[in-house]
Amino acid sequence: LIRLAGVTKRFGTNTVLDQLDFSVQPGKHVTLIGPSGSGKTTILRLLMTLTKPDEGTITVDGQQLFPAPEKQIREVRKKIGMVFQQFNLFPNMSVLRNITEAPVQVLGMSRDEAEARARELLDLVGLADKCDARPTRLSGGQQQRVAIARALAMRPQVLLLDEVTSALDPELVAGVLDLLRDIARSTDITMLCVTHEMGFARDISDQVLMFDSGRVIESGPPEKIFSDPDQDRTREFLSAVL
Ligand code: ATP
Repeated sequence: LIRLAGVTKRFGTNTVLDQLDFSVQPGKHVTLIGPSGSGKTTILRLLMTLTKPDEGTITVDGQQLFPAPEKQIREVRKKIGMVFQQFNLFPNMSVLRNITEAPVQVLGMSRDEAEARARELLDLVGLADKCDARPTRLSGGQQQRVAIARALAMRPQVLLLDEVTSALDPELVAGVLDLLRDIARSTDITMLCVTHEMGFARDISDQVLMFDSGRVIESGPPEKIFSDPDQDRTREFLSAVL
């Protein structure tokens, strides 16, 4: 479903991704781990077309992203939902409106249908009673649940999760991770996650990719990567974070 081939990304003289190749099969859950600054977030930003690669190709569902006509980029973006570390909700809209806005504006869904779907999703994320609230009145954990509902409202094929619990108070982390575990278990959505939550990564991942200096230095099923990695660098990283 997602394929990166020879992807290089530089910021000035800093090569953030270095001839990167990997692919994600439909329905799989792939987790990116590795030290801060190793380029993980940059990959998600490339997939969202928030930034462009200097070299290489990226395809999503058979459609190339760079270069591509604007219309094709819009089509690809409809297939991808992203949840950010800092929630990025629209502060001046109600929770319900945050969720209905993109389906109405981008997918052309009727407002009634979008609202019915948003209410179902708010139920799913445990916030059925917060439809009319402003996001700023909610806790971080609740805001992140709204952001997850908002991403799902677009019925994406792919969900990108960028350290979605890093900005949360510790007591709110488990609830958000449990919700994501449920979504991973109960839907066929493809997930690409950047996380420092190794327990969560172990639970949901089909494959874990260990990054260092813009390259995948090791990849495999979580049982292998977390218990018996081949690379010393992976072992060092895990012993520092676990
Ligand atoms: P973290 O876990 O800290 O988010 P990461 O592995 O996700 O790390 P990236 O955020 O992808 O890493 O960043 C990789 C490198 O690219 C870092 O050195 C960062 O400073 C640099 N970088 C990212 N975005 C930009 C930008 N817009 N301009 C310049 N440098 C950037």
